[in-house]
Amino acid sequence: ETSESEEFDVIVVGGGPAGSTAATAVALRGHRVLLLEQQTFPRYQIGESLLPSTVHGVCRILGVEEEVGRAGFKPKRGGTFRWGRNRDPWQFSFALSPRLADPTSFAYQVERSRFDAILLDNARRVGVDVRESCRVKGVLADEERVRGVNWTGPAGEIREARARYVVDASGNGSRIHGEVGGRRTYSDFFRNIAVFGYFAGGARLPKPNDGNIFCAAFDEGWLWYIPLRDDLTSVGAVVGRDNAAAIQQDPVTAWRGLIDSCPEVRDLLHGVPQATEAPYDQVRVRKDWSYWKSRLWRPGMVLVGDAACFVDPVLSSGVHLATYGALLAARSINSGLAGTLDEDRLFDEFEARYRHEYGLFHEFLVSFYDMHQDERSYFWKARKVTHVDSTELEAFVDLVGGLASGDTSLAGPGQAGARLTTTASELDQAVGRLPASDGLRNPLFESASIRQVFQEGTVLQERGVFGGPLEEESPLRPGGLVASEDGLTWVAE
Ligand code: FAD
Repeated sequence: ETSESEEFDVIVVGGGPAGSTAATAVALRGHRVLLLEQQTFPRYQIGESLLPSTVHGVCRILGVEEEVGRAGFKPKRGGTFRWGRNRDPWQFSFALSPRLADPTSFAYQVERSRFDAILLDNARRVGVDVRESCRVKGVLADEERVRGVNWTGPAGEIREARARYVVDASGNGSRIHGEVGGRRTYSDFFRNIAVFGYFAGGARLPKPNDGNIFCAAFDEGWLWYIPLRDDLTSVGAVVGRDNAAAIQQDPVTAWRGLIDSCPEVRDLLHGVPQATEAPYDQVRVRKDWSYWKSRLWRPGMVLVGDAACFVDPVLSSGVHLATYGALLAARSINSGLAGTLDEDRLFDEFEARYRHEYGLFHEFLVSFYDMHQDERSYFWKARKVTHVDSTELEAFVDLVGGLASGDTSLAGPGQAGARLTTTASELDQAVGRLPASDGLRNPLFESASIRQVFQEGTVLQERGVFGGPLEEESPLRPGGLVASEDGLTWVAE
C-alpha cells in the first residue's frame, strides 16, 4: 500500500560522493532536497585515492574542505608508477603542474566509509532531508517527464515522492539508469576485473612520496598500493577477464598469488599480515568494466557518478568524475528551478561538459595503457591500440565525437587509432625525460594530453581557492554557458 506522496524540488538517489555533492549544491541554493540511500552509513566502498580537484574544488564549494582536512586522511602528493619502458618507478607529482602552486597540489587517500559519511553529514547539515535504509525501486514518469520515485522504507513500507528533478547517483548497480538513454555501452578495451583487500601496514615509499598511490604493471595486469594509514594499506590487482573464473572461485588465493607475481609490490609487504579489522578483513571482487551512456539526461532526470559512466581506475578519476558530474548537474538544476534559462539548454550544457571530461580521461587512459609495453604478456598485447578492433574505436569516436580533443581530428576509427598511438609515444617520451628534469618544470605537463586531462580539475581547484577561475572561463562550445561566481549555477555569457 502506498502512503501519501511527498513533494520536493529535487530527489537524489544514492548517498555516495556523487549524491552528496548534487544534494548539497542544490540545498545550498535553498531548495528542498530529499536524498534516499539504501544502506546505513558508514558503509564500505572502493575508490580510495582522490584527485586535488575533489578536495580543494568540490569539497570547498560544498563547505566541507576543512572538515576533510581535519579527518586525518593520508595526504597524497601524486602517483608513483612502475609503468612503461623503464623498469624504474617514476613519479607523477601534482605540485609540478605549472598552474597548481601549493597549497592545493595534494589530495588524500581516504577510507571511503569515513569520507562518504563526512559528505553525507554535511548534506544533512545544509538542510538535505537524508533518509538511510531507503531503497529506490523505480521512477514515476509520464510522457512529458520524470516526476518522482518510489522506494521501500526501513520497515519495508512502500513510499513515493515527487519532485521537479530526480538525480540518479546510485552508483554502478543503479536500477534506474535505464530510464535515461537506455542501456550502457561497455568498452572492450577496459574489460577488466579487480580483486582487492588490505594489509595491516606495509613499507612506504621514501618521503615526500610516502602518501602516493603506487601503481605497478606486471605480466597479468597491474596492482595498486594505497597507503591509507600507517597500519593499513589497500592493495588491489586489475587483470583481464580471462582470470574471472579463478578469482571468483577463490578470491583470497588469487589475490595473494597476483601480489606474489609482482616483485615491486610483494617486497613492500614482506612479513606484513593481512588486516583483520572490519570492513578491511575481506577480499573483494569487482568487475571494473568501463561504460558510458548515449544520453545523461531526459526531462526531469539526470545521471551522475557511476550511475552515468565509469572509466578504468588507474588514474584515480572515479570520485573526481562523480563529484564533478554532480556539480554540473546541480548547476543545471539550480538554474532550472530558478527558471532563468531554457531547460534543454541547461541540461545540454551539463551533458556536453560531463561527456567532455569523461572523454578526456577515457582517451588519456587508452593511451596510458598503450604506453606500457610487454610483448610476452597477453594482457598488455591486447591493450595496444594497434590491436583494438575498429568497432571499439568507432564506439570511442562516437563517445568523444572530436569534443575531447577540441578539434575534428577524431573523424573516424583510423584517425582515432593513429592519434591515440601518437599520444602514447608522447607520454612515453615525457616519462623518459623525467630523470633529467630540473624539478622546476614537470616534463609530464609538456604533454598536451596530460595538460588537457587535468584542465577542468585545475579550473575547479582555482575556483575553490580564489572564488573563481584565475583565467576567465570560456564556454566549452559556441553559445555554451559558464559557471556563476559561486560555482552553483550557469550563466549565459
Ligand atoms: P557510489 O559511491 O557507489 O555510491 C552510490 C550509493 O547509492 C551507494 O551508497 C549505494 O548504497 C546507493 N544506492 C544504490 N542503489 C540504490 C537504490 N536503489 N536506492 C537508494 N540508494 C541506492 N575512484 C577513485 O576516485 N579513486 C580510486 O582509487 C578508485 N579505485 C577504484 C578501484 C576499482 C576496482 C573500482 C571498481 C572503482 C574505483 N574507483 C576509484 C571508482 C569509485 O569507486 C567510483 O567512481 C565512486 O565510488 C563513484 O561514486 P558514486 O557516488 O557515483 O557511487
